[in-house]
Amino acid sequence: MHPEAIFDDVVSKYSQHINPGLARLVSFAGFGVEMEAEGCFITDHEGRRFLDCLGGYGVFSLGHRHPKVVEAVKKQLDRMPLSGKAFFSQPAAELAAELARVTPPGVEFFFFCNSGAEAVEGALKFAKKATGRSKIVSTEGGFHGKTIGALSTTGRDKYRHPYEPLMPGVEFVPYGDAEAARRAIDEATACVIVEAVQGEGGIRIPPDGYLTELRRRCDETGALLVVDEVQTGLGRTGRMFGCDHDGVSPDILTMAKALGGGVMPIGAIGGTENVWEAVFAENPLTHTSTFGGNPMACAAGIATLRVIEEEGLVERSAALGRRMLDGLQELRARFPELIADVRGRGLMIGVEFAMDEVGELTVAQLLMRGMCAAYTLNNPRVMRLEPPLILSQEEADLAVRILGESVEAVAEVLAELQ
Ligand SMILES: *Cc1c(COP(=O)(O)O)cnc(C)c1O
Repeated sequence: MHPEAIFDDVVSKYSQHINPGLARLVSFAGFGVEMEAEGCFITDHEGRRFLDCLGGYGVFSLGHRHPKVVEAVKKQLDRMPLSGKAFFSQPAAELAAELARVTPPGVEFFFFCNSGAEAVEGALKFAKKATGRSKIVSTEGGFHGKTIGALSTTGRDKYRHPYEPLMPGVEFVPYGDAEAARRAIDEATACVIVEAVQGEGGIRIPPDGYLTELRRRCDETGALLVVDEVQTGLGRTGRMFGCDHDGVSPDILTMAKALGGGVMPIGAIGGTENVWEAVFAENPLTHTSTFGGNPMACAAGIATLRVIEEEGLVERSAALGRRMLDGLQELRARFPELIADVRGRGLMIGVEFAMDEVGELTVAQLLMRGMCAAYTLNNPRVMRLEPPLILSQEEADLAVRILGESVEAVAEVLAELQ
């Protein structure tokens, strides 16, 4: 098929059978049809290659089609792709043991599911069962998924409002404000759920010691600390987990995006022995999932953890993150009227523009120069950069250079308009 025909065909099917508004949004933003991907690059229907600094919002920490993950998944595919459910499964056992090695001390048990929202759903259920309480504290601007339970804790009115009434008993406090959290968390609280760095909320980094304060308040009141590491987990922030920056161990930790190595979807809920005992002792089947913990997904997870260690991706994330942040700070100094702030932890970086239009124009310029980054209409001020952790130093520099050229082009456009 001719490239243009491919594009028209896909967009028209999106319009007629998937989501017309989304079809308009994606084509207006200038995106084509993704055809294949490898390493840090995605190739579209015209054969154009894009440096993937969006990284599936954290899914592609190992890049696209990492050979070791692909090989592990193919091997498992030929042996037994899905679980018979009644037998023991070796890949699930192995992945749980490997995760216990890398998660914060005390997080030793794992429940496998298929997505981030599902991990959050389970985490909320576990917190309620383990404490016998129902009140939940969450944060404004927090993102925990869009299923009913997870959505109830997502701190965005825009997503929540059309679906109310949601799960009752959720109280929101400003993110990063330990004092407000102290006041909200009490003896009736089942858990506080919080991201180590707010991703969807615009790469918001809490003050040092924020999680430590939450941990302390939870210990005082018997509430559980749930850290949602669906996006920050597995090296994204320059530490294995985001909560490692504060040296805090949660009672429950959720993960998903990067866990399948960019090849398989998988989510996981980690928890302490106490939590597991309270949740599962009387009924080991109190929480289940048909596809959760399937052998192909777990094989991907095991290979992913191995690659992260073998290739030193956590250290790489920290080092390259610092390098990119330095470059972006220089860019901000050159264009202070366009770039309001640059911040990040590891390769989880946010560029905050001074005006909404600057973000929109910059993303279009990036695409023209062969790079994509995360930008949403829900948060038009902040562009997120979450490139693969396997990024080379040259690719990191390339990303900063393309962003610089793009902002420069936007500055020229805006100067002409004045
Ligand atoms: C993406 C995300 C989720 C939801 O994950 P899905 O797989 O899209 O359901 C939950 N929490 C955080 C922190 C996320 O970034």
